Amino acid sequence: MVAVKMPRKSVLTAFLATLFWMLFITAAAGQAGEPPSSLQSQVLARVEVPGLLQDLNLPVYADLTDAAGKYYALVIAPRTRLETAGVSFQTLDAYSPGTRYLLALARRPGARRNAAASVKILHDDGRRILVRYAPGLDELLADLGFALRLLGEKPMTLAIPTLRPRVLEFLLTPDPGVSSMIAAVTQETVNSYISGLSGETPVMVEGSAYTITNRHTRSGTPLEKASRYVFEQLQGAGLNTSLHPWTYASYANRNVVGELTGAKLPDEIVLLTAHLDDLPLNGLAPGADDNASGCAALLTAAGIMGRHRFQRTIRFVFFTGEEQGLLGSERYAEAVAGENIVAVLNLDMIGYDSANGPTQRLHTRKPANPGYQADLEIAATFQEVVNTYGLAGSLQPIITAEGESESDHSSFWDRGFAAVFAIEDDWDDFNPDYHSSGDKLQNLNLPYCTAQVKATVGTVAHLAGPIATAVSPTPTPWQILLLSRQRPADTFHGPPNFLVN
Ligand SMILES: [Zn+2]
Repeated sequence: MVAVKMPRKSVLTAFLATLFWMLFITAAAGQAGEPPSSLQSQVLARVEVPGLLQDLNLPVYADLTDAAGKYYALVIAPRTRLETAGVSFQTLDAYSPGTRYLLALARRPGARRNAAASVKILHDDGRRILVRYAPGLDELLADLGFALRLLGEKPMTLAIPTLRPRVLEFLLTPDPGVSSMIAAVTQETVNSYISGLSGETPVMVEGSAYTITNRHTRSGTPLEKASRYVFEQLQGAGLNTSLHPWTYASYANRNVVGELTGAKLPDEIVLLTAHLDDLPLNGLAPGADDNASGCAALLTAAGIMGRHRFQRTIRFVFFTGEEQGLLGSERYAEAVAGENIVAVLNLDMIGYDSANGPTQRLHTRKPANPGYQADLEIAATFQEVVNTYGLAGSLQPIITAEGESESDHSSFWDRGFAAVFAIEDDWDDFNPDYHSSGDKLQNLNLPYCTAQVKATVGTVAHLAGPIATAVSPTPTPWQILLLSRQRPADTFHGPPNFLVN
């Protein structure tokens, strides 16, 4: 028995010893490695950016400029990582997984003071306040006159893919096709779209007349009708039209998308975007400037460009949920993250101009952000179009590289896409009726708005690459001189007065 038992005991002992060692080794390995991040104390911090943003080598959720002109980033990371990164930082909140933050840019005088009376503010940089997201807080802040941006669930992508083609490659010479598209933009068309979307006049939707009194994301039927109206208009323009449904917290809505498939480079996509939703929630919400103006630009452009062909695909995208923190565009940008979006032009408020001056803003990222150069190409294309097609007398676009992020373009910036935010002069001539029932068509400057629609059509056409028309552009004397020098003398058959032009 003993002789039989002993081996059994040995086997048991060996088994237990092996189990012990396995547990010990696992535990030791666990101690040697990094503890799981959930066990570390994570914080939301303001980190000063002395040089290039990517040199921080930290998970950045926003990069901003405060009222004093200081460039800083919002970072969520373990406190120990910030301490060892050698950066100057200020802890704003103890972060727990699942927490979301709202950035709110004050657009109305006194908005920050009014918010401080009722909301717990984590940070106030003199222009923006930062708060923890909570249901209902978005509506409260939007009503106080803030533009909102819900910070992403993931850090921003801080690298521009190197394979992305340069957008300027098609901007070679003035194009007669583009010239005719720009000429086809009329103030009457722009006026009619803003009037219909802002409820001044009824629109035809689903075969009957309807007056759109409100386009708030929670308005129900009114925004539903506005979305259908936009959808039908895009269909009428000959575009492939679709809906992109999204949800966030208690919000559920959809974006409307119209697509003109590119004839040569269909996988390279240019986006022209605007938000369709507006404020306030209750009563009349005409939102003529914010943002029937931008939507009118998209509808006018789609109507004209739908009759032309382009090398790249153009998508006209109408977002909802913008006023609650860019909800619709955030979900859309997430859905197209794997596509080759070469450029995004976002229009938000392009109709107010009390100064009757031609100033317009093209917002790009900061030069210290790796996305700046790509944004600049879009903005430069816009400026080039204004100068090339004779719009400079009525429009003066100023490139403003401050990374102003409180509109739908920043959902694309977050994912490393090139994007520009076109707006009226929001720095020196802001619309006093912002987010109120007074945001009406009668307060807009239609010639100014029409000039922006013309410049938009030209810019998108050049970004997408117009397909050459039968009429060739008239060469400048300088181009002719160059051509004549390149051409061998014996094949030159031009008329004697060819250079005298
Ligand atoms: Zn807006």
